[in-house]
Amino acid sequence: MATYKYATVPANGERIGYAGGELKVPDRPIIPFIEGDGTGADIWRASVRVFDAAVKKAFGGKRQIAWMEVLAGEKAFTATKDWLPQETVDALQEFRVSIKGPLTTPVGGGIRSLNVTLRQVLDLYACIRPVRYFEGVGSPMKEPGQLDITVFRENTEDVYAGIEWKAGSPEADKLRAFIKNELGKDLREHSAIGIKPMSEFGSKRLVRMAIQYALKHNLPSVTMVHKGNIMKFTEGAFRDWGYEVGREFGDQVVAEADLGKAGAGARADAVVLKDRIADSMFQQLLLRPSEYSVLATPNLNGDYLSDAAAAQVGGLGIAPGGNVGDGVAVFEATHGTAPKYANLDRINPGSVILSGVMMFEYLGWEEAGTLIVRGLENAIASKHVTYDLARQMPGAVEVSTSGFGDQIIKGMDG
Ligand code: NAP
Repeated sequence: MATYKYATVPANGERIGYAGGELKVPDRPIIPFIEGDGTGADIWRASVRVFDAAVKKAFGGKRQIAWMEVLAGEKAFTATKDWLPQETVDALQEFRVSIKGPLTTPVGGGIRSLNVTLRQVLDLYACIRPVRYFEGVGSPMKEPGQLDITVFRENTEDVYAGIEWKAGSPEADKLRAFIKNELGKDLREHSAIGIKPMSEFGSKRLVRMAIQYALKHNLPSVTMVHKGNIMKFTEGAFRDWGYEVGREFGDQVVAEADLGKAGAGARADAVVLKDRIADSMFQQLLLRPSEYSVLATPNLNGDYLSDAAAAQVGGLGIAPGGNVGDGVAVFEATHGTAPKYANLDRINPGSVILSGVMMFEYLGWEEAGTLIVRGLENAIASKHVTYDLARQMPGAVEVSTSGFGDQIIKGMDG
């Protein structure tokens, strides 16, 4: 057990355990949270009230979360001169399930992304992003309700691995010389160089988690999204390894190409495993969204796709996410710090609140998550929503971040 200098371990809570591939969740689990930069404080204030209200309503006094604030980002730097104190990483590991607000990442220099660091250090290898439509939200689509997908984005490899060198740096020059002299490939002078590693282990465990999710939730298909036509040995291998994983599941999974062959897909509940090229997938999600359910993607494809899909159903204000490994998970919204709205009590807290729904599902406290979803549906139906939703909903009344939290709590009774 780590010792904590800046955080306080709640005396009334207990640690979540992990055995045999399953979480052991006590009735008063200690859950660390990172408030986040920019709009993070506004969002967290509203979200935590919604979470506590849902747990209380779902379980009476029997269950309760013991929240533990841990520092990261600007708040951590002010208090400790460190953007990501080691004790924060220790807490996320030790207490297993946590939730965070967005953290600032300066572009092109300065500190490395804290989000990417957390995902790598804690080996949170799947970024899970469900995208669904809430009735009444404005959308650029004619039939937004047809989109109901969950993206499993590989989180630790690909060009996001952070292995890159600046143009003109000694490292880039050395690598360029090596590639020319040893491997016979020319790179233009003064090139920046990034490396795109994609391993069999990393790709397979991601696709495996996506298939397990589809089986658990009785979903019809898993689609691997890649650019294997061009990047044959990285993204092409991702697809091939994915099909190998599919075969591990026997008759529970059938490859799309085998459908219709004797014996294949004989089980009515078999998950269909298919693959699509990334650029075509963007079109498919716009034109034939109902044909897709779970998507399994390498890191960069999944990043683009999940934001684009979120826009189809109403935007980043209601786009949740979870970074999940084996027995450790950090839930967080898809959006960033939206700094221009910081401390205005204006931003939509819906993404963090829905990330909390994912967290409750992960804890096995589905009842609390169901109440929150009902509360959000009713808040949207009442047309009392934050600015981002209001501007797409004719006749809506704009409410503040905290006001939207109140509406969601009220909507749990509806
Ligand atoms: P952003 O913070 O996601 O904001 C971009 C725009 O998206 C906002 O201006 C707003 O659009 C809309 N938006 C974002 N969150 C919203 C919410 N809760 N409710 C309603 N609308 C919302 O992206 P960014 O400006 O590119 O990034 C800002 C900082 O966040 C950067 O430092 C970036 O690195 C960081 N970031 C962190 C994470 C993370 O912590 N996981 C993720 C992404 C980015 P309108 O202006 O149209 O209202």
